[in-house]
Amino acid sequence: MIKALKNTGIGNSKNVLRYIFGPGTLKELDGLISKQTKLETDYTVFFVDSFFEKDSALLQGVQISSRDRVIYVDTGNEPTTDYVDQLTQSLSQNSDTIPCAIVGVGGGATLDIAKAVANLLTNQGKAEDYQGWDLVKNPGVYKIGIPTLSGTGAEATRTCVMTNPKSGLKLGMNSDHTVFDQLILDPDLTATVPRNQYFYSGMDSYIHCIESLSGHYRNAIGDAFSDQSLKLCREVFQDSSAQSDGNRAKLMVASYLGGCAIATSYVGIIHPFSAGLSVVLGVHHCLANCITIKAMAEFYPREVEEFLKFVDFQSIQIPEGICKNLSSDQYERLYQSTIIHEKPLMNALGEDFKNILTQEKVIEIFNRM
Ligand code: ZN
Repeated sequence: MIKALKNTGIGNSKNVLRYIFGPGTLKELDGLISKQTKLETDYTVFFVDSFFEKDSALLQGVQISSRDRVIYVDTGNEPTTDYVDQLTQSLSQNSDTIPCAIVGVGGGATLDIAKAVANLLTNQGKAEDYQGWDLVKNPGVYKIGIPTLSGTGAEATRTCVMTNPKSGLKLGMNSDHTVFDQLILDPDLTATVPRNQYFYSGMDSYIHCIESLSGHYRNAIGDAFSDQSLKLCREVFQDSSAQSDGNRAKLMVASYLGGCAIATSYVGIIHPFSAGLSVVLGVHHCLANCITIKAMAEFYPREVEEFLKFVDFQSIQIPEGICKNLSSDQYERLYQSTIIHEKPLMNALGEDFKNILTQEKVIEIFNRM
């Protein structure tokens, strides 16, 4: 669909300051940390996806001193504000000083938690105080992001998505201070990703970009990031060996570029519905996107057709019927936690989006999933 472009209102974009890319580049981590270590009492906190708790080979080559802390992050659920507070408190209780570096190693949830805790350690208060735009006052602890899954773009963005179970709000700390100081993009680290998960996560990048490119609020830079990310996603998922060395490198770049795209534009209709599934039914973000996009043919016809071809070609299973026979309270909460995302919905449908997405319509769409 062709739309007249509107100004995104994002005036001064910040990208990640530095990144190292390539197979085997995890070995650069020690050197990066030692540059931050000035005092004998300095220490580093590693937030590592609990997926790697059993597979400790990941960190075998990394120098970890007795002062450092390795915290395995529970990624069974989406990050909550309470969980971020709890992790921050446990660090503050264990030491009078803040760490000289925080390293996040994992998928989007782990990277987001590393970003959130780094901000909270140098700012007072609780995680929920900073859910919103530009509320973080002080620069966070120096932080390094090392993705082990490709697609969410969390490595590139200025947000860290958290769900607040009390308010039902799924919103991050949108701030320049949330951007990683350094990335290590090492495609070797995605070699053990289970097949379905590799697809679901990779599709997050695809969905970010199709939503962004279909929106009203855009600019040529965001479009260029999206175009290139989509090109790489297509190359990967049209290939029968989507997880080959070369394709994992491509998808890692697609994820990074998709994150850059979304940092200078907005998502559309899929992410708000997907957020509803996460908040109300606890479905993980990337899977929730894949469930949602299948119900979105009236809004994104070509893209849904292409998505379904990828699913078919890669023989991926996507659950169906997950919104059938819910309670009226659950449907009400699904509606509320979708419609709250005004900016992306306005980006996709214009200012009168609530006339298009009536409560009845929203529930009808959820019932297609
Ligand atoms: Zn996403």
